Amino acid sequence: MVKNRFRAVLIRKDGDRQSVNEEEIGLADLMDGDVVVAVSHSTVNYKDGLALTGRAPVVRKFPMIPGIDLAGTVQDSVHPDFRPGDKVLLNGFGLSETHYGGYAEVARVKGEWLIPLPDAFTPAQAMAIGTAGYTAMLAVMALEDAHIVPAKGPVVVTGASGGVGSVAVALLAKLGFHVIASTGRMQEAAYLQSLGAAEIIAREELSGDPRPLAKERWTGAVDSVGSRTLANVIASTRYGGAVAACGLAQGMDLPVSVAPFILRGVSLLGIESVYMPRARRLIAWERLARDLDIGKLAAMTRTIGLGDVRRAAEEILAGKVRGRLVVDLSQ
Ligand code: NDP
Repeated sequence: MVKNRFRAVLIRKDGDRQSVNEEEIGLADLMDGDVVVAVSHSTVNYKDGLALTGRAPVVRKFPMIPGIDLAGTVQDSVHPDFRPGDKVLLNGFGLSETHYGGYAEVARVKGEWLIPLPDAFTPAQAMAIGTAGYTAMLAVMALEDAHIVPAKGPVVVTGASGGVGSVAVALLAKLGFHVIASTGRMQEAAYLQSLGAAEIIAREELSGDPRPLAKERWTGAVDSVGSRTLANVIASTRYGGAVAACGLAQGMDLPVSVAPFILRGVSLLGIESVYMPRARRLIAWERLARDLDIGKLAAMTRTIGLGDVRRAAEEILAGKVRGRLVVDLSQ
């Protein structure tokens, strides 16, 4: 049964001022779509932090229900691929930007955006992965496509204690890589080792002014930090190596020279999750079902309620969230 009235977080804008409040809305308030989903879980990613605080222009239309991820059960569908009762998940596709997102008990979305929930996961586990974990998987797949294999040498993961970083460490370790985890939180060393990191290095080693080329240290990298960190990672990548760049936690700039590309044949691989075509999404979720240890997923996850998302937004932007945050819509 679809609820007539349900809870939702709404971002409203009045001039330059943005407000975020929990409201009660109805089906008629939702945007167009061909599938109605009873949302059981969502997540808080870095991008959700940016949307909720207004610190970057993630939201393109106001009012907006934020939440770039959702998982739940189809309640109503006129899309041929989905029927009431189907378990589904959704990452990106403009959720929280131009279309209402996952911070509501009910969502109306386009069926073509939905992914059937893999049998391996409950909705809560799928959201423990969320956009951050699915992006980590896309980054690992990009490294594999660039022929980066464990025998070629170590890989480094920056922002390792964060969402993308934690899942990337766990995936790469399970695939047999020697994983070097770079973190600003050395107190999380034991946590990172439990995920499979073989070495932990301090964030400061990579966050200073980069040189065009540095000592060759790794053959591959997953970077969620950008800026000087990404430049240092590229400068320290071995001959023929590859770096998957997916984030900007340190900044959007990239003060790099062409030297690593033209003298060492290093490749820079851009990772984009929001509009990734469906076929590759399906592969990424299949791979997550196979290559991500569910026990490690539980260790990296904290669950909060809808009323906690604003506080969580500040925490994640301050780099204080370890691993992943799941939003349980029943709380
Ligand atoms: P998190 O906040 O969970 O992780 C980011 C991590 O980066 C932090 O935990 C921290 O790790 C590190 N960090 C934070 N601030 C700084 C800083 N100033 N300098 C160096 N390191 C820092 O975020 P997510 O994992 O959700 O997202 C990570 C990044 O990836 C974000 O920029 C996000 O926008 C981007 N992203 C991009 C996607 C795409 O489609 N391209 C999809 C998903 C995410 P530690 O304490 O261990 O150093």
